[in-house]
Amino acid sequence: MNIIQLRRSRLLRLLTVLLLVACVLFFANRNPVANAVNSQNDHIKTNSLQAKKLSVFTPDKMGNFEPPVEAPRSGPGEGGKPHVLLPDQRNEASQSISEFGMNMVVSDEISLSRTISDTRTPECKHWSYPDDLPKASVVIVFHNEGWSTLLRTVQSVIDRSPPQFLEEVLLVDDFSEKAHLKRKLEDFIEKYNGKVRLIRNKEREGLIRTRTRGAEEARGEVVLFLDAHCEVGLNWLPPLLYPIYLDRTTMTVPLIDGIDHENFEYRPVYQGETNFRGIFEWGMLYKENEVPEREAQTRTYNSEPYKAPTHAGGLFAIDRAYFLEIGAYDPGLLVWGGENFELSFKIWQCGGKILWVPCSRVGHVYRGFMPYTFGKLAANKKGSLITINYKRVIEVWFDDKYKEFFYTREPTARFLDMGNITQQLEMKKRLNCKSFAWFMEEVAYDVLDKYPELPANLHWGELRNTAARQCLDTMGHQPPSLMGISHCHGFGNNQLFRLNKAGQLGVGERCVNADSQGVKLVVCRLGSVDGPWEYDETSKTLLHKVLKRCLAVHPQNNHLTLLPCDTANNYHRWEFREIQPK
Ligand code: UDP
Ligand code: MN
Repeated sequence: MNIIQLRRSRLLRLLTVLLLVACVLFFANRNPVANAVNSQNDHIKTNSLQAKKLSVFTPDKMGNFEPPVEAPRSGPGEGGKPHVLLPDQRNEASQSISEFGMNMVVSDEISLSRTISDTRTPECKHWSYPDDLPKASVVIVFHNEGWSTLLRTVQSVIDRSPPQFLEEVLLVDDFSEKAHLKRKLEDFIEKYNGKVRLIRNKEREGLIRTRTRGAEEARGEVVLFLDAHCEVGLNWLPPLLYPIYLDRTTMTVPLIDGIDHENFEYRPVYQGETNFRGIFEWGMLYKENEVPEREAQTRTYNSEPYKAPTHAGGLFAIDRAYFLEIGAYDPGLLVWGGENFELSFKIWQCGGKILWVPCSRVGHVYRGFMPYTFGKLAANKKGSLITINYKRVIEVWFDDKYKEFFYTREPTARFLDMGNITQQLEMKKRLNCKSFAWFMEEVAYDVLDKYPELPANLHWGELRNTAARQCLDTMGHQPPSLMGISHCHGFGNNQLFRLNKAGQLGVGERCVNADSQGVKLVVCRLGSVDGPWEYDETSKTLLHKVLKRCLAVHPQNNHLTLLPCDTANNYHRWEFREIQPK
């Protein structure tokens, strides 16, 4: 072997080694465990960032993907204006509202490509984004949705997305029965020349599993989920893709505008320059809070994305492979509810992050009620499916201390069968995920300001008056409202009370208080967990410490009232009885 050959073969070996190292680095980067570690290591993150182009803010110039200003159009609902029907359409309209939860007669009269108002903060027009962003599959899952709302969602995506970043719109039918969603839909989407694809579930799966299926079947690098009754806003897509381009363990969430379910007016839910982010209370109801100073300060411009502990659920973008690597949604979750928390806690605790993106707006029709049932999926389930889901989520992701807050706020959840969570716990271990305490300190640090640690319950259950033999009842009204008594019916939302050590008498997320008008259901004072009540274990009277009177049923008219305490009187005597889900 002469010297030159020797050098060559050394060079080859060196090249092979380099290639191997590059491969290892590349695959390490595709590996969720490595990523979980990476994202704790800013040094590595910064290195991988160097090859990426950055977004630029130019106050004197329009952003590179800003669409030309649309000429105003006239017609029903144009410009996002409300559309009003003729009086003789009223019957048909109210029928469609009970069928779909929204006024389909109004929607059907509005163009599928109507114009809408630009609800973004003005700065948003001046951001330019890299031209090599990943391509997205927009995944829309649907079950028995109306025609024009579904197709307006599709059309708005086609109209307002730069085509080079839109791989496809993937429609996933969750076993709908309605005729207009069968052949007619297949025929209609042909006009999109393959850009819109339709797949169908063989049985009803619920929205959670259907979204996971959508991600499995999608072809884009990023999956972007939308509900089937949305209209995307101006230049909505690049701002959502950009943070994922920088860091594939990022979930991005657009700000959601409202589309009125009766007149289809498109309007911002958030006004002005104040930004909000998703949080939760201890019964796991989704809440929003102003972005705390600690987070707001980390940015130069108010239009920049900011970190959020969680999100409302329906609309978000995520790297497809990353979503599947972290197990997509927990397949043990049922139909609807809690999946937003499951994914959020998993992302944050296992090394990723969630950003809300003020420059990306998507309108969503908030319906008045849920127009579909859970069907067979709910069969043989004791208690509320949603609470079962919450229990699964908190049992996997919360630490013991925080689990107690959930059970204090939702005492019947202790009895619910959440199924097996072994696999979820194993995954949490495998991905080396951090504790919930870490999440509360580093990410969701504003939750405890609004929803402080909950004192334990002294008692919970139905609250039965000994003389009247009836139970305290919210009467199904919204707060503030007068409460009453009615036949004790055990499980249900209106008669399930809890009294905590700090004197708060609560039902669901609401509180019981009283004033000169009587005993009332009220919104609990935000940031407080105490209350005016004191229960005497011997006499079984419930004293309102401020009014210095006892909760009682009036012997004459059998109405709920407050009277000067009489510990020997059965009309002043109340007993808690714990009840289990049927
Ligand atoms: N959905 C579904 N299967 C279900 C329930 C809902 O595919 O079992 C779809 C529904 O058509 C919608 C999305 O999931 O596109 C979210 O549901 P919905 O809009 O009712 O939820 P909300 O906006 O009220 O949270
Ligand atoms: Mn929806």
